[in-house]
Amino acid sequence: MVKRVDLAFSRYIKGDKNGKRSGKPRFKGKNRYRTIGFPSIKPDCVNNNHITFPKLGNIKFIQHRPLPDGLTIKRALITQKADGLYVTLTLEDKSVPSLTVDIQPTEENSLGIDSGLEFFVACSDLTAVKLPKFYRQSEDKLAKLQSKRDRRKLGSKARRKLNQKVAKLHQKIARQRKQWHYEIANQLLDKADVLFVEDLKVSNMSRRNQPKQGENGTFLPNGQSAKSGLNKSFADAGISGFLSEILPGKAEKAGKKVVKVNPKGTSQHCAICLNRVPKELSDRWHSCACGASMSRDINSAILIKKVGLGVRLTIKRKSSDNKKRRSQRSVA
Ligand SMILES: [Zn+2]
Repeated sequence: MVKRVDLAFSRYIKGDKNGKRSGKPRFKGKNRYRTIGFPSIKPDCVNNNHITFPKLGNIKFIQHRPLPDGLTIKRALITQKADGLYVTLTLEDKSVPSLTVDIQPTEENSLGIDSGLEFFVACSDLTAVKLPKFYRQSEDKLAKLQSKRDRRKLGSKARRKLNQKVAKLHQKIARQRKQWHYEIANQLLDKADVLFVEDLKVSNMSRRNQPKQGENGTFLPNGQSAKSGLNKSFADAGISGFLSEILPGKAEKAGKKVVKVNPKGTSQHCAICLNRVPKELSDRWHSCACGASMSRDINSAILIKKVGLGVRLTIKRKSSDNKKRRSQRSVA
């Protein structure tokens, strides 16, 4: 505990190894600590259905899968989750050399993937997967449970029990989602050796739109309400975790590669003729003077593949940007 508090303060004062400073540590009550770590644990601590921890002694547990042979147990972490206590073991494997997968992407062995709005993923092979609405299905149930809880007195037993139910429902949703993510990752990796995904900063996408004002001072729709719905399904989808952890992890195991691509311009250009076709967030269909007509997300997926394979999109600046630059220069 002391080590953790010390770490929190040094992150606040000095920052982490990159010098990035965290916020001021808040007080955390005993209920907000959910994990205990054992930085060193005996390699022979696991015996059938028992595990031995320093200080705690021998404890019965359920082993979900057998420990692989030839690996040494180094660390253990006990975590309290909504449905019980879990132990995570860190194993060391000295025998495996670090594999570097070196596959050259080509037109045939690669796939472009656009993630996000209408579809969870849309691919350059013209397929797309919609998101099952796990969270929204359970949302009504969750809302009912939460309002019932809020009517109970603070600190009462009934309230505590309802809190547990809410936590369990959240856990169920998270697990459904995770399993679905793994299934989709496998499906995508079956299709190609190199997957191009957009390097997306979800925090940017979740930022609020600037208010837009008309000439007579009235406020015009700025697309925020459409985006709010978007933000919600983003939180639901867990897309960043999928693209930055689950997919690369699965790819590594399969000896395949996930490459992040700068998505700049991939929604505003035509995948066939590469000309610029500006769209609002609400335009779901891409149709171009060259005859291209397809879903916006599929168009982006094809472009992401092209950018990944080395095509450069020339982005013309809007005239208003040029004006701004000129005026800045005159001020300087
Ligand atoms: Zn076109």
